[in-house]
Amino acid sequence: MTRDPNAPRAVHADRSVGFIGTGIMGRSMAGHLLTAGYDVHVFNRTRTKAEPLLAAGATWHDTPGGVAGASDVVITMVGLPADVEEVYFGCTAAVPEAAGLLARSRPGTLLIDMTTSSPAVARRIATAAAARGLAAVDAPVTGGDVGARAATLAIMVGGDAEACERARPILARLGKSVTRLGEAGAGQRCKLANQIAVAVGMVAWCEALAHARAGGLDPIAVQQVIGAGAAGSWGLTNLAPRALAGDMAPGFLVRHLLKDIGLARACAAESGLVLPGLQTAERLYALAATHGWADEGTQVLYQLYDHRLAAEAGA
Ligand code: NAP
Repeated sequence: MTRDPNAPRAVHADRSVGFIGTGIMGRSMAGHLLTAGYDVHVFNRTRTKAEPLLAAGATWHDTPGGVAGASDVVITMVGLPADVEEVYFGCTAAVPEAAGLLARSRPGTLLIDMTTSSPAVARRIATAAAARGLAAVDAPVTGGDVGARAATLAIMVGGDAEACERARPILARLGKSVTRLGEAGAGQRCKLANQIAVAVGMVAWCEALAHARAGGLDPIAVQQVIGAGAAGSWGLTNLAPRALAGDMAPGFLVRHLLKDIGLARACAAESGLVLPGLQTAERLYALAATHGWADEGTQVLYQLYDHRLAAEAGA
């Protein structure tokens, strides 16, 4: 992640890209934009997590509004919907309204929220942005920390078609696919569908490997065999080996998956939909959190089975 000073400058109207939220995902994503030749302006709640980007040529600002004032396009990749609201609307003591993105963006700025957040928040941002002469899209991602590092994310976009097309060349630097699903909030609704499949799928492979191990089989061998067949999945390929090696370092935090499950459950309820598989996954992940694993990677779910704790979830 270094910018070659001799590399040709990126050819696009939007030269300055702000990036807010330089955690597990954001630091790799912002790094790809630096490598592509964009002028990258960053802010993160904890400055130390932005240091590698600053060393590679990014410019630090002390508030989201500071980033906005220097950027043609601003990308956000923070944690929770409340963090998104703070950054955009400036509704807290840490970020007052005047220091938020919406208040400080120059007319014509494009705002892209890539956080996994609520469709309702995405719609509120789009409405507030339009009222100020700004453009806004929601563009959450799937592909994990691996996909962020390799720029192979699948990106799900919601918003006005013209704004989505303007975002496309920048998003294409971060992922292998950029798909518009509909108006504001549609990207987030698609992402929540993805998270239902992720959460329930994780339960499936954890149970499969626990079952194999309880039967005296080597779970690593089983993972390799079934991962190549009809049971194969991204999680079984990428996360199960970490779980079996006892590596619980977060690629994706348990507390973020619990956030996503809650968002999916709320949207399902609004649609009159009951999701019993998701309810089971939620009970298991909540149990993992009560065991002190909220800040571990989601593959920690396997430990509930390995330590014969899963029955506590009543699942
Ligand atoms: P993360 O490591 O916690 O990164 C989020 C970053 O945003 C943190 O560095 C955090 O600051 C910063 N932040 C949070 N609130 C902020 C605020 N109000 N102002 C400024 N900075 C703020 O999480 P992540 O894994 O990168 O995930 C980011 C988002 O992408 C989440 O919504 C997650 O659900 C989603 N996602 C994650 C993955 C994955 O595999 N990791 C995949 C797809 C989508 P601090 O450093 O102070 O905590």
